[in-house]
Amino acid sequence: MDETLGQVLRDAVRERLDMLSELADRADATSLLSVARSELPRLTEGWRALLTAHEADEKGNCPECSSRWRPQKAPCSVWRSAHEHLVSGALAPRPARHLRPAHALRPVAPVP
Ligand SMILES: [Zn+2]
Repeated sequence: MDETLGQVLRDAVRERLDMLSELADRADATSLLSVARSELPRLTEGWRALLTAHEADEKGNCPECSSRWRPQKAPCSVWRSAHEHLVSGALAPRPARHLRPAHALRPVAPVP
């Protein structure tokens, strides 16, 4: 994938995430229910596919994050991130985005 196409892909994903965040913060209950029914299965399916690709191999390494000369022990950062966002983060409900102080909003992390 060339750099331009990679940038287009990253921008499209970020815009989609921004749109979903905006809906979560501002949509009325009926719209939110409709979006949840259509988007939650897509998001869970996406997480499952991503996590399957990062499942430990027979040596206990992540096949996606390892290189020939540099093995990466599982669980890799993708699994740790999934746990942080899906399990740990789920224990403490976060206030709506517009109610959080500006310093609590996470900056957009650059995608390698
Ligand atoms: Zn991995």
